[in-house]
Amino acid sequence: MTKKAFITGLTGQDGSYLAELLLAKGYQVFGLVRRSSTSNLERVSHLFNQIQIVSGDLLDQSSLMDVVTETQPDEIYNLASQSYVPLSWTQPALTAEYTALGVSRLLESIRRCKPDAKFYQASSSEVFGQPDESPQTERTAFRPRNPYGVAKAYAHWMTINYRQKYNLYACCGITYTHESPRRGTEFVFRKITQAAAKIKLGLANELKLGNLDARRDWCYAKDAVYAMWLMLQQEQPDDFIIASGETHSVRELVECAFNYIGLNWQDYVSVDPAFYRPDEAVQLVGCIDKIKTKLALQPQYSFKELVELMVDYDLKLLSGNK
Ligand code: GDP
Repeated sequence: MTKKAFITGLTGQDGSYLAELLLAKGYQVFGLVRRSSTSNLERVSHLFNQIQIVSGDLLDQSSLMDVVTETQPDEIYNLASQSYVPLSWTQPALTAEYTALGVSRLLESIRRCKPDAKFYQASSSEVFGQPDESPQTERTAFRPRNPYGVAKAYAHWMTINYRQKYNLYACCGITYTHESPRRGTEFVFRKITQAAAKIKLGLANELKLGNLDARRDWCYAKDAVYAMWLMLQQEQPDDFIIASGETHSVRELVECAFNYIGLNWQDYVSVDPAFYRPDEAVQLVGCIDKIKTKLALQPQYSFKELVELMVDYDLKLLSGNK
């Protein structure tokens, strides 16, 4: 029998990759879209004839109950949230409505309308904020430092509480930064790969960056969504860190991208204080021992492969071949 999956946040980077993965596995895929949404449907436009768009809103309990009742999904992936950290400071209550209470509403809809559905909650490394230890594990204390992280911490614990109290198959995946050609250029990874491609093609001749010593645990979005799916295929629900398990600096990133196109990065890159962060996050790096051991999973794409595939994508895009 065809499995049915319901995805919130379908139009985001992860939602679009997850939809592709599930379609390739033969699932019938439903994606929640807000009717009034002006959000960019570009990432999923190529899938429109294969996905069923359902309308509803994480702010509206009855719409979620209707969607779950009507679609009767086997698996539900909650990837939707108000995830832009600076906005979480200017709109903390709205952030909590979507990112925290939205998950309560979804869990409640599952409990009432499809209690045997398996549920994936997208937790974020932002829950660790200023962690006591590095790398962080599934047992590291949460010390979120912004309203988004606080809302994600609430959602994480509500998911676990519904698992314990109602016996739902509900899991949290704590993802670290994950990148792809579908990332925006406001993020440093895509900013660098796109700039390298532009410079290579003679469309630009400089790249201004902020803190070159900043480090991140970067993995490929395709690896991350595969981990999400795998978490729902187990006998027992559990929570996992989804990360690469290693950190790289912005300097290494820029060096890797420019090496790939055969140029010396120092000839093009300058440091501009405008891109420095006043409150630079501490080093977040995930320990991937649990997911490696219990799910036999590790990232398929190395840091270098990720840099190179994104540079290749941007080269094609800018040459008009994409
Ligand atoms: P996020 O902070 O993890 O959401 O992702 P970003 O990609 O925006 O930033 C990653 C790191 O790169 C941060 O530590 C930044 O301080 C650092 N960084 C250095 N130069 C830049 C830049 O020009 N733009 C951005 N966005 N980040 C930069």
